[in-house]
Amino acid sequence: MNTVANADFNGIVMFERSHRENDLLVKFLTKEHGKRMFFIRNAKKVDFKLRSAILPFSHGQYTGLIRSNGLSYINAALDVQQFENIFQDITLNAYATFVLNLVDAAFDDNVKITSWFERINRALILIDAGNDAEIITDLIQIQLLNSFGISITWDHCVICGRTDLPLDYSEAFGGMLCQSHWERDEHRWHLKPKSARIIGILSAVSIFKLGQISISKETKQEIWNLTADIYKNQVGINLKSRSFIDQMKKWEI
Ligand SMILES: [Zn+2]
Repeated sequence: MNTVANADFNGIVMFERSHRENDLLVKFLTKEHGKRMFFIRNAKKVDFKLRSAILPFSHGQYTGLIRSNGLSYINAALDVQQFENIFQDITLNAYATFVLNLVDAAFDDNVKITSWFERINRALILIDAGNDAEIITDLIQIQLLNSFGISITWDHCVICGRTDLPLDYSEAFGGMLCQSHWERDEHRWHLKPKSARIIGILSAVSIFKLGQISISKETKQEIWNLTADIYKNQVGINLKSRSFIDQMKKWEI
């Protein structure tokens, strides 16, 4: 792609980073041009006009200079909103930050990922609207695994294909084992049947069709622990924003 001057694009601010005395580097997840770093000159000055449009979680339509390599530039914010609840609530903020960090880790910059832009945008809308942030985050974590090169069979036994018996996760087999095959892996996860069913749903349901699901704290924690293990041991990443959520969960007890 060549440099495109004054291109309109849809974007979500992922994070900002201080750059020199007055400037900021702001990373956007854009619909049209993937994740991209923008150089914003004088952004730290008090009278900077676009300040609110480049705060974390700001999203909408912008216009700017998109460069194939290196930093891009923003000229104007055309129609930009804030996810107000995410911006103000520390818990929602923590989950939304983790979701954006995950997508940042999963894909290279400057590579078009339109369907993931749509899914992440939807996830943030749902979190901001008061849906269960942990469940939304679990869905994103589970569905992003493929993009990290990890393919896990969640909805049937990897040995016999059965779906009618209780399933349990086996890292060694890369997916679920039905009750008849549990003896094949003594180190299987020992998931409760309810947790296994919910994971199966979260792995398959479109985030655009996700309804309200009511899940107990215990089940959520089991799913959270499983995804923690998969990301640590199989994906090989350990994000600070996840550790922060773990800390936060301890405050709640
Ligand atoms: Zn089986």
